[in-house]
Amino acid sequence: MMNVIAVYPGRPNSVHLAQMAKPSVNDVPGGRGVLVKVLRVGVDGTDKEINAAEYGAAPTGFDFLVIGHESFGRVEEVGSSVAELAPGDYVVAMVRRPGCSIYDRIGLQDMTTDDTYYERGINLRHGYLAEYYADDVDYLIKIPGGLKDVAVLLEPMTVVEKGIAQAYEIQRRMKVWRPRKAAVMGAGTIGLLAALALRLRGLDVTVFSRERKPNRNAALIEMTGSRYVSVHDTSIIDESGKFGPFDMIFEATGFSPVVFESMQALAKNGVLVLSSITGGDRKTEVPSDRINLDFVLGNKVMVGTVNAAREHFEEGVRDMAKAEAEYPGWLSRLLTHPVKGLENYGQLFQHLLNGSGAIKVYCEVADA
Ligand code: BGC
Ligand code: ZN
Repeated sequence: MMNVIAVYPGRPNSVHLAQMAKPSVNDVPGGRGVLVKVLRVGVDGTDKEINAAEYGAAPTGFDFLVIGHESFGRVEEVGSSVAELAPGDYVVAMVRRPGCSIYDRIGLQDMTTDDTYYERGINLRHGYLAEYYADDVDYLIKIPGGLKDVAVLLEPMTVVEKGIAQAYEIQRRMKVWRPRKAAVMGAGTIGLLAALALRLRGLDVTVFSRERKPNRNAALIEMTGSRYVSVHDTSIIDESGKFGPFDMIFEATGFSPVVFESMQALAKNGVLVLSSITGGDRKTEVPSDRINLDFVLGNKVMVGTVNAAREHFEEGVRDMAKAEAEYPGWLSRLLTHPVKGLENYGQLFQHLLNGSGAIKVYCEVADA
């Protein structure tokens, strides 16, 4: 048996320690199984929503869901048909598993058109806040040893990588696209990683956030040569008059009204990437004629992005390696709130819910 952190989906505040049978490489058919010892697992807003019973579902046949989707672990054992990985390798697991749509069938389950989607630790599949997990090698990404201290940030990084890749892919509509100015809305973990990735691509980056300076996130943003603008006493529209308009905007505030302000800060031919998951039912009033007119006359694009495919995990590894070379130690500064041991799930959620100054809260499941 092994310990896991689980919730009863639909029952608010039900996070608890549970026990389950230890998985085995043979749980996966065709000799393609990999048994992974979990080392670290990050938590985020999605886990908060799952524990608040606003999101998530248990796998069929279970009344609980093992949570945790931002994983990092070490291979313990591989099946007879696994040549890609060996015991001792470090790995991060993908989150979504294929359903039925044509996209799922070509490895792009992040683009599924099915109504039901399967995500480990989130929806209908158990997650990684456990001592071990087993999975098909097809869903595991090998991590270079030099990134082992920061690799728990890879899954959130992939959300950024997919958003940026989608933007560049879409912009192939223009035979020439040379983005110079980018904006990132929000300075949380995703906002920080988006600013990093855009700086690594050589863009002039402005990050908008509510909190006044000085603060830890602002300092981190400025360390990579991005600009931090607090909109506590002003507005995104006013401030983007000074620093924009932006060829690309990455929205990651979790606050939907910002979407419509971002639309107004976008340059002609620009692309706005939306990544906030807003489960509520907030309403807002917007200058719709003006926004629409500028979008039409300016050939602008807005795109939503969720989850990530294998290529985005691989790009994330490359960017994290580049980040370590360009801004040594920067990534590890995001790992603000470690909690040792699955049994301390209470503290994990306490930090997640009201950890002031917390960037990444994560469970140190075992020593690396
Ligand atoms: C996860 C994604 C997932 C999304 C929607 C995010 O927190 O990082 O992998 O697709 O939630 O469930
Ligand atoms: Zn997440």
